[in-house]
Amino acid sequence: MMTGDDYRASLRDGRRIFYDGELVEDVTVHPRMQGSVDLIAAGYDAYVEQGPDAFAAAYTAPRSSEELRARLDLLTKWDTSLVTTLESLAALRTAAGRIGETEVPYGHRMEAYIEWCQENDVRCVQTLTDAKGHRDRSIADQDDPDVFTRVVEQRPDGVVIRGAKLHISAAAITHEMVVMPTKKMKTGEEPWAIACAIPVNAPGVTVLNASISPRLEELEEHPYSKTRSMPEGFVVFEDVFVPNERIFLNGEVEHSATFAHSLGLWQRAGGIAHMAKNYDLLIGLARLLAEANGTERIGHVKDKIAEMVIHATLVRSGLEAAITNVTTTPEGWVTPSELYTNAAKFFGAREFPRMLSLIHDIGGGSIVTAPLPGDLANPETRPLVEKYMRTMEGVSGEYRTRLFHAVRDITASDFGGWWQVTVSISGGGLYAQKLITMKHYDMNHAKELALEAAGLQRFNR
Ligand SMILES: Cc1cc2nc3c(=O)[nH]c(=O)nc-3n(C[C@H](O)[C@H](O)[C@H](O)COP(=O)(O)OP(=O)(O)OC[C@H]3O[C@@H](n4cnc5c(N)ncnc54)[C@H](O)[C@@H]3O)c2cc1C
Repeated sequence: MMTGDDYRASLRDGRRIFYDGELVEDVTVHPRMQGSVDLIAAGYDAYVEQGPDAFAAAYTAPRSSEELRARLDLLTKWDTSLVTTLESLAALRTAAGRIGETEVPYGHRMEAYIEWCQENDVRCVQTLTDAKGHRDRSIADQDDPDVFTRVVEQRPDGVVIRGAKLHISAAAITHEMVVMPTKKMKTGEEPWAIACAIPVNAPGVTVLNASISPRLEELEEHPYSKTRSMPEGFVVFEDVFVPNERIFLNGEVEHSATFAHSLGLWQRAGGIAHMAKNYDLLIGLARLLAEANGTERIGHVKDKIAEMVIHATLVRSGLEAAITNVTTTPEGWVTPSELYTNAAKFFGAREFPRMLSLIHDIGGGSIVTAPLPGDLANPETRPLVEKYMRTMEGVSGEYRTRLFHAVRDITASDFGGWWQVTVSISGGGLYAQKLITMKHYDMNHAKELALEAAGLQRFNR
């Protein structure tokens, strides 16, 4: 197992990383990435302390609802590298099972790769979303064929790929990219049906980054996001060679959607596990704000918190239903229910802005205007903050100001905006969840009930 320092050293491997137009010499000390690297390094150290099996759950398939629950609980951690490793490899394993036997032993390659990742204690990222060009055109009609990642050369020992994968969380500070086709490819689109694994430092890979990580001088004002932000990677492949043993699909268009569907399931299951926990967090913050403001007994405030509790409970119900109603593969692995996972993810994502609006309504304007930590530190301004932010015995000016900082950081800062977009978009937009929910909903059962209620016979169309 790697220690935190081994992990830091492993990132100094010649990778080509940019931040805001500048080449980054060493990601481990970059002001917008160091905090994220430290978070992952702390995770490595914690796993070393717990022993060799501590991280094994990220690499092995769950075999029961209880094991699935434990995996999904792991996904609620903010160490994104752990989440992306677990989800990428779970998606590969699910895809291997769904693809079954083909002429090429893809299933065996994927299993061997998962074992290699475990043996080398590396972290992987899910590398699916292409640039995609004009959204309403087929690949053949795009101005530039590279807007979907494709094979540009077949060689006896592997392939050469070109393209870009966007929004790849933590790519700059992890080791391996699990590359998958972003959508279903059709006959004629074989070069784009490519799944493979590529090291972040492979020749031809460039990663541009964006991050909502607070600047080092603003950490105190961001008690939450300072340990929970990851760089989002804009990954470009400029003729990158991939050896045969790392190729998991190469032209078999009939299997191209399998990867996206498998990853989508795990991403959304992770998403609702996260949401269930964070909806509770938002309720806790709303209640603390009401108590600090002295409004917790006022009717409309109680009603708003009750509404938040209903939303949180419904998201958690969906998560519980997804964990309980698992599908078991022929190998004995379990996967969460597609129906409940997608319905809960849709509901939770749609209601998230409502949750934020309720907490803002309860908290008031100081969420965005409360004086800054420096005003608490300066003896000249501190008494002013203490005097006018205090509300009652037990609620000091400092306590209430810092509570507002936390709520600002979580819901109304760069992080808050990032979070809102992420809840809605990651794992596919709301429409994608509707499509999968409809695919798995038992419409015939609903129609039978309706026919029986109406006293009618089914007519044939
Ligand atoms: C913070 C964050 C982290 C992410 N991390 C990762 C990651 O680690 N790895 C990864 O692979 N991806 C990641 N994603 C990408 C995420 O899965 C995509 O953003 C998502 O699938 C939407 O794709 P898009 O951003 O290209 O938007 P678009 O595809 O442009 O979608 C925008 C809207 O247009 C609609 N739309 C687009 N095309 C069509 C069409 N043909 N027909 C009908 N409607 C259409 C969509 O439904 C949506 O409502 C991340 C995204 C975010 C925001």
